[in-house]
Amino acid sequence: MDEKYTGRFAPSPSGYMHMGNLLAMLLAWLDSRAHGGRIVLRMEDLDPVRTRPEYARAIADDLRWLGLDWDEGYPDPAYCQSSRTALYAEAFRALEAKGLVYPCWCSRAQRLAAASAPHPGEAVHDPRCRCAYLTAGERAALARERPPAWKIRVPAETVTVTDGHYGAYAQDLAREGGDFIIRRADGVYAYQLAVSVDDMAMGVTQVVRGRDLLSSAPRQVWLIRTLGGTPPTYAHLPLLTGGQDGKLSKRVGSLSTQGLRDIYTPRQLVGELAYLAGLLPAPEPISPSELIPLFTWDKVPKQDIPFAQTSSRT
Ligand code: GLU
Repeated sequence: MDEKYTGRFAPSPSGYMHMGNLLAMLLAWLDSRAHGGRIVLRMEDLDPVRTRPEYARAIADDLRWLGLDWDEGYPDPAYCQSSRTALYAEAFRALEAKGLVYPCWCSRAQRLAAASAPHPGEAVHDPRCRCAYLTAGERAALARERPPAWKIRVPAETVTVTDGHYGAYAQDLAREGGDFIIRRADGVYAYQLAVSVDDMAMGVTQVVRGRDLLSSAPRQVWLIRTLGGTPPTYAHLPLLTGGQDGKLSKRVGSLSTQGLRDIYTPRQLVGELAYLAGLLPAPEPISPSELIPLFTWDKVPKQDIPFAQTSSRT
């Protein structure tokens, strides 16, 4: 893999895209193209229950409609996470060989409780759950009952990510996140492992995505380093918020690309997104290529963007 500036689109085909996804895609595209870089389209379709091939097709079609092209990726199955499990298995085994992986039988409720109330009153917060301390005999007994999820043991280490938009973001892996799941009990490799392996294997040098994933970046940097790779750099963008409801949801049907394509031409929608991102003073029709010379992260707000601020064309 060469060192060329490489950005990526990494949608999860679990629904149609909405304005928030499109804004992330537009900025990822602009960031890479403004650096003369390439773009990879990776379908994050690991979860067989939540993702569907028709959503993947619709996402690719919407990106093309908008004028956001990519240089490699979907529909080549090598860029669909569902076809890449051998690579995740290899990374899993490498981490296991380092003694970093252990089985976990905690229920979802136990995991949530541990995350929200981390041992009040204890001087030292334990990053591991009780499963890390089971004896071989106890593990064997539990394994006869049901398959475990697999967790990775994080070190007591602070990882600092220098985000291209939000600046330095430091996380004490053990205290702030604790051990995390890299393979679910149903055998599906978890997002943190898959995304780290893929960004590494696909030569991604610049990750642009929503601010909701900023807190995942230190774990991904640590995983990539532990697997012997060089982490990409990151730039996170503010989220679009839908008034009272907080973060825009894929379930807001009227704002999915299906609905948006009835209201806007591609140039109008790109103009609307560019206006939201601070790249245009008003939502004037424009193409992605015409935006390249206008793109700089300095113009993009840091605060989340209320969706009400968009112009209405209905
Ligand atoms: N597939 C994730 C999503 O659609 C994004 C993952 C990433 O950008 O790291 O939310």
